[in-house]
Amino acid sequence: MGCGVWGVGCGVWSVGCGLWGRLRKIHAFITHFLRTSQVTFMSENSPKSRTYPPPPIDDPSYLLHRKWMMEALELAQRAGEAGEVPVGAVIVDAKGRLIAIAQNRRERDNDPTAHAEILALRAAGRVLNNWHLNGCTLYVTLEPCPMCAGAIVQSRISLLVYGADDPKTGAIRTAANIPDGPCSYHKLSVLAGILESPCRQQLQSWFSQRRG
Ligand SMILES: [Zn+2]
Repeated sequence: MGCGVWGVGCGVWSVGCGLWGRLRKIHAFITHFLRTSQVTFMSENSPKSRTYPPPPIDDPSYLLHRKWMMEALELAQRAGEAGEVPVGAVIVDAKGRLIAIAQNRRERDNDPTAHAEILALRAAGRVLNNWHLNGCTLYVTLEPCPMCAGAIVQSRISLLVYGADDPKTGAIRTAANIPDGPCSYHKLSVLAGILESPCRQQLQSWFSQRRG
């Protein structure tokens, strides 16, 4: 979780809610775009990262990712309404069951570590009675910061799916790359850009309102 996404990176991908209704018409364009731009699996050249082709936009796996990211967006919305930077996260276990939800609570808890991802990881560990989260997928609306990226690697989460890149503190691929760094010994798969536009616009809107 970080704060940088609101100021930059605008206008690259204007996929919003209205797009879904026009999906068939622009399917070819979007599919091409997902394969070449915003939606990419991390670090295809990295020896640590597991890579596989991005799912087509009408693929069941894409629809599943979209469904869980919408849950994370809703959590982020609640955080924003409570005065927090709007970031939400959910964790789904290996069988596809929702086991943890969290939203940024840094202000409310006066806790610098209370990012949505950290809280979700802790909740998932309690549910599974195991800190080892192999097989689980973490969905978060914003590219994780260095703290959260480190925790994600430590948790052994199998797949990270996030919405918007964070140009200032994103530590998955944008400002830094913790999963593929020398301190990481976990092979983390990452899918970036699921519902990127709504995730980015939510943050931009929140910061815009704060400034106004
Ligand atoms: Zn964070």
